[in-house]
Amino acid sequence: MSKEAKSSYFDLPALDVSVAFPQATPASVFPKCTSDYYQLDDLLTSEERAIRLKVRECMEKEIAPIMTKYWEKAEFPFEVIPKLGALHISGGTIKGYGCPGLSVTGSAIALAEIARVDASCSTFILVHSSLAMLTIDVIVLNNDIQLLIHRFSFNNRTIGIRNAKEKYLPPLAELSSISCWGLTEPDYGSDASALRTTATKVEGGWILEGQKRWIGNSTFADVLVIFARNTATNQINGFIVQKDAPGLQSTKIENKIGLRMVQNGDILFKKVFVPDEDRLPGVNSFKDTSKVLAVSRVMVAWMPIGIAMGVYDMCHRYLKERKQFRAPLAAFQLNQQKLVQMLGNIQAMLLVGWRLCKLYESGKMTPGQASLGKSWNTLRARETVSLGRELLGGNGILADFLVAKAFCDLEPIYTFEGTYDINTLVTGREITGLPSFKPAPLRPQSRL
Ligand SMILES: Cc1cc2nc3c(=O)[nH]c(=O)nc-3n(C[C@H](O)[C@H](O)[C@H](O)COP(=O)(O)OP(=O)(O)OC[C@H]3O[C@@H](n4cnc5c(N)ncnc54)[C@H](O)[C@@H]3O)c2cc1C
Repeated sequence: MSKEAKSSYFDLPALDVSVAFPQATPASVFPKCTSDYYQLDDLLTSEERAIRLKVRECMEKEIAPIMTKYWEKAEFPFEVIPKLGALHISGGTIKGYGCPGLSVTGSAIALAEIARVDASCSTFILVHSSLAMLTIDVIVLNNDIQLLIHRFSFNNRTIGIRNAKEKYLPPLAELSSISCWGLTEPDYGSDASALRTTATKVEGGWILEGQKRWIGNSTFADVLVIFARNTATNQINGFIVQKDAPGLQSTKIENKIGLRMVQNGDILFKKVFVPDEDRLPGVNSFKDTSKVLAVSRVMVAWMPIGIAMGVYDMCHRYLKERKQFRAPLAAFQLNQQKLVQMLGNIQAMLLVGWRLCKLYESGKMTPGQASLGKSWNTLRARETVSLGRELLGGNGILADFLVAKAFCDLEPIYTFEGTYDINTLVTGREITGLPSFKPAPLRPQSRL
C-alpha cells in the first residue's frame, strides 16, 4: 500500500452506519421476510394475509428508517401515529364503534408485524388497543352485564354504558385519542390483585387516591383506564380518568434499557374526581381484569414471534453480506447452526401462537393456555435474539442493526403482562389444581 493510501485509510472518520456500511446493510433498509420456512402463511385467511402485507409494508417503509433515532433518544415517535391509525388495526377484535372487528388471528398477526420492525411501536398498540380499549369494551364481554343490557335495554344505566363506548371507542380506534392501562403499583407488581389505590364513592362520582407505576403511554394518554379498590366493597373496579383531571400527575420513568420509545410513567392520584358515567360497569372484581389479561396475553404471545422474525431476517441478510476469512459469514457451519436454531424456534412459536388464536376463537382457550403461550414464546424468543446478537459480532450491540435493540426490547416483554414465572405458575395451577403463588407462612424468628 502506498504511503498516501495508507494515511487516508487511517484518517477515515467513524462510519455513519445509517448511510453506509461496507459489508452489511443496516436495519433502516429493512430486510425482506425470510422466516416463513414451513409456509405457515397457508394457515391464514386471505383477509389475515392482506392485513399482514399492509402492516409489513407500512412498518418497513415508514417506521424502519426512523426507529433507531427515536429509540436512542428514548422519545415517542408521534409522527408515526397517523400512519399506524391509517392501518385501521386499533381496537383489534372489537366490533362497531369505528373498530375494525378483526379476527383474533388477524389482530395478533398485525401486532407481530409491527413488532418485527419495532417492539416499542407494538407495545404502544398493545397497551392502547388490547388492554385499554378492550377493558372499555369489557362492558359487552361480561355476561352479567350482557344480560342486563338484554333485560333492561332502555334503562339509564344501559344508555350510560352505550354512551361511554360511543364517546371513547371511535377516537381511540382512529388513534386521534390515545389511552393507557394502569394496574401495576410501586408495591404491587406480580401481586397486582392486592393493589392499594382506592376509589371512594361520593355524590355524582368517585374519588381516586394512590399511585401507579410502569404505565405505558401514560405521560401523554388522553384517556387513562385505571384500576382501584372500591372502599365500600373492597373489590377492584375500573375507571376512565381524563388526561386533564385535577390531582392527576404522570412522570416519565427514565433510563430504561428496553422499549425505550415507550413512555412508561409513574402516576399519582391526589383526590382525583371521576364522574359516575366514567366508572366501567364491566369491571367489578380482579376476575374481570384477568379476563382482559387472558385475551391480551394471546396478543403478547405474538410480540416475541414478530421480534424473533425481524432478528432472523436481519441475521439472514447480514451473514450473506459480510465476509470474514474471504467467505460470507453464512458459509461457516457454526453460524448456520445458530441460524437454523433460530428458524426452528420461530416455526414452533408461530404454531403455538396460531393454535392459541384458534382455541380462543372457538371459545375453548383457558387462562393457563394463554399464559403458556406468553411464557414459552418469550423464552424461545429470548434464546433467538441472543443467538442473533452473537451472529452479528460487534454490530450485534449496535441499535442500527436491529438485533441489539430487539435483544433489549425483549427483556421487558419477558417481564410485563405477568413475568415468565407468574405465567408459568398460572399454567402450573391449571394443570395440577394446586396454586403455588404464595410461599408457606413465615415462622416467627427463632431466638437461637
Ligand atoms: C416496560 C414495561 C411496561 C409496562 N407496562 C405496564 C402497563 O402499561 N400497565 C401496567 O399496569 N403495568 C405495566 N408494567 C408492569 C409489569 O406488568 C410488571 O413489571 C410485572 O407485572 C412484574 O412486576 P414487578 O416489576 O413489580 O416485579 P416483581 O413482582 O417485584 O417480581 C420480581 C421477580 O420476582 C418474581 N416473583 C414475584 N412473585 C413471585 C411468585 N409468587 N413466585 C415466583 N416468583 C415470583 C418475578 O417473576 C420476578 O422475577 C410494565 C412493566 C414494564 C417493565
